[in-house]
Amino acid sequence: MDHLAGIDVGATQIKLGTVDLEGRILQQDRLPAGAKASFVDFARPIAESLKRLQDKTGGTLRAVGIGTPGFTDKRTGVLMGGAENIPCLKGNSLSAFIKERFAVPAVTDNDGTCAAAGELAWGSARSYRDFLLITLGTGIGGGLVLDGKVYRGAQGFAGEVGHLGLDRNGPWCVCGSRGCFEQYASATAIVRLHRERLQKRRLPIPEPLEPAAVLMAARNGDPVALETVRHAARAIAQAFGSVANLLNVEACIIGGGLSAMADQLAGFVREYVADYAWPLLASGLKIHTAALRNDAGLLGAAALALQELSWR
Ligand SMILES: [Zn+2]
Repeated sequence: MDHLAGIDVGATQIKLGTVDLEGRILQQDRLPAGAKASFVDFARPIAESLKRLQDKTGGTLRAVGIGTPGFTDKRTGVLMGGAENIPCLKGNSLSAFIKERFAVPAVTDNDGTCAAAGELAWGSARSYRDFLLITLGTGIGGGLVLDGKVYRGAQGFAGEVGHLGLDRNGPWCVCGSRGCFEQYASATAIVRLHRERLQKRRLPIPEPLEPAAVLMAARNGDPVALETVRHAARAIAQAFGSVANLLNVEACIIGGGLSAMADQLAGFVREYVADYAWPLLASGLKIHTAALRNDAGLLGAAALALQELSWR
């Protein structure tokens, strides 16, 4: 049987698996990402694990997709920057390393782009040709699909929606700009803003304060958490409205680790988006959470490999 492999490189963990052409995971493994001194020390265990998974799966491995944080040169798979938690990856190509050992096509791309590819192939975006997907995490990542294909832009870095400017006088961002979208609605920002609200009202702050707990409290009707979630939803609506105005996308999808908890958040975004886009564009815009949950990164990387393969 023909199948694919997906590798999802995160800051703390690497998830990898073999995946059939319908998006079912056949075999999977997890490795600690850790702080490796050299690229080879980082890449070798990944290749070894993939070899074990391939032996267990049998059949023919057709292509390997790899998702990483940061900016990847699409032609070479070399990580150009933006993945500070995994310094040994910079200047190296994990896909070239895998391609050499397994003699199959391999592709590396940004994890937001992979998430969009996964949602397009096997998730909630199967019927869409034009959509944006955002991932709410430490920052906000994203992937764009235009005319049925992942859109990469001139240098391959398109979809950095987390750094859309929402307020030119807003807080400074890691990217060097001010008032970026991710300063208002990433999982980190939701926690920061909720903490500030609780402090201002002299209310007890649960420790550790997790973003999922803030969303859960809002769902249960906690008034302060509701304020935080509505505030984040306004920022998301502003970003989605701008993207709808620019690209007339059919849908904007909320993905990432929080998406399983984000139905109420998505509902608020639907309520607010009309304030930030032309009425005609806002009224047709679908807004919902992603369908692929825990394994979205792994499946997205495999889906990207499938798309690359079908281009050949
Ligand atoms: Zn920024």
